[in-house]
Amino acid sequence: MGKGITSRTEDYSQWYNELVDKADLAEHSAVRGCMVIKPYGFAIWEKMQAALDKMFKDTGHSNAYFPLFIPKSFFSKEASHVEGFATECAVVTHYRLKNDGTGNIVVDEEAKLEEELIVRPTSETIIWNTYRGWIESYRDLPILVNQWANVVRWEMRTRLFLRTAEFLWQEGHTAHATQAEAIAEAEQMLDVYATFAEQWMAMPVVRGRKTETERFAGAVDTYCIEALMQDGKALQAGTSHFLGQNFAKAFDVKFTSKEGKLEHVWATSWGVSTRLMGALIMAHSDDAGLVLPPMLAPIQVVIVPIYKTEEERQEINLLVDELMAAGKQKDISMKFDDRDTHRPGFKFAEWELKGVPVRLTVGARDLKNGTVEIARRDQRTKETVSKEGLIDRIETLLADIQESIFDTAKTFQMEKTTEVDSYEEFKEVLENKGGFISAHWDGTVETEKQIKEETKATIRCIPINNKQELGTCIVTGKPSTQRVLFAKAY
Ligand code: AMP
Repeated sequence: MGKGITSRTEDYSQWYNELVDKADLAEHSAVRGCMVIKPYGFAIWEKMQAALDKMFKDTGHSNAYFPLFIPKSFFSKEASHVEGFATECAVVTHYRLKNDGTGNIVVDEEAKLEEELIVRPTSETIIWNTYRGWIESYRDLPILVNQWANVVRWEMRTRLFLRTAEFLWQEGHTAHATQAEAIAEAEQMLDVYATFAEQWMAMPVVRGRKTETERFAGAVDTYCIEALMQDGKALQAGTSHFLGQNFAKAFDVKFTSKEGKLEHVWATSWGVSTRLMGALIMAHSDDAGLVLPPMLAPIQVVIVPIYKTEEERQEINLLVDELMAAGKQKDISMKFDDRDTHRPGFKFAEWELKGVPVRLTVGARDLKNGTVEIARRDQRTKETVSKEGLIDRIETLLADIQESIFDTAKTFQMEKTTEVDSYEEFKEVLENKGGFISAHWDGTVETEKQIKEETKATIRCIPINNKQELGTCIVTGKPSTQRVLFAKAY
């Protein structure tokens, strides 16, 4: 393992790439735009999955699984949906290879599929085609289903975790008898995502609605959570869509209401992906490596022994056994790094790079004094403490780290959110400070487009619970009733 990574101020993007690589999170694969998620990175993703999965189930959802392939005819049924995804679809055309007689393996042209298959970029179409068979009356509603899956979007500019051609995600697809119920569901899931981001990832987010331009293809309304990364760029971290009756109409999904009327079903869909891994890394990490919130850290405490003699080693082992047993009782995930192939200094750097929240060091002097050295990763501080009551102390410390990482990110987000009242000021802040810019906009697609073309900033969202405030659009001077959040985004 090479030492040191590029600093954030030197080259933020390089810092990110090196961190993902050196912390053993993921790497590029032989397939363009597709990544290999390595065991340590996958362990973090599994912790995210477990927490989210529980939240979905606690709000009444069940998991199911739908196919990877979607018949092209299904995909084309909802006009704006197909239009939105058409440019990034992988298509399966054949089902067999053959030897061409000279030893080359080629596609067997005779094995051409009658109907081409789309590798799912999202599953609304195949799911609504299925729901038609599940729904007859209001008694069959609501359907509250989620699936954990992989999807493919042929992205041209990719970035490990943040934007890949294949990514892992969950997609919830729900069916409701009324519009109000579907909207409430979309809002509820936005809340679940925001709670997860803030409480588990320790990442403050803005909850909002997308403008027409940024809306999901096929949605009536897209809700989102937006987070700010340390370089001042925004990241869309999760979306929840109110789909109206668009998919029910496209797939002819009707139900008989309580009043005996035949009506189209109302829909939502919502998803978060392995992009959250990128968000987690970018939100908290520093020039020494990853900083993980304890609630998502696969290893919360690492213990590094420092000894000279075999006798000292054995004594440390006894102490560590005791500590690990006590830690297990409190569900604290601890690792004893007793490798004798690496020096303590190497181990310190490695666990720092991997973002383990707490490090304990036990040496000969500690054995004599009944102490251990305890170091916290987020603030890079350490102190020597008594081994008495150590596990309680660690438990408190982990909670403290979780909170403190959030507070740091929240302070950053607040400092990097600027209200501006003119286009000059807007450009100046965008150029020199970055972050979220709160400004009045006239509500038109044209103005939004003009700002994007001229500055690369997009409207990240119209914040939920936005206060009404009369003002004038920074570009056209037309009247506006509220501010929206702009930023350059990933
Ligand atoms: P969407 O279906 O477009 O609303 O996206 C659902 C979720 O997947 C959002 O949280 C996006 O941030 C995320 N996402 C979209 N495209 C990608 C991608 N290429 N790589 C990783 N995550 C993505």
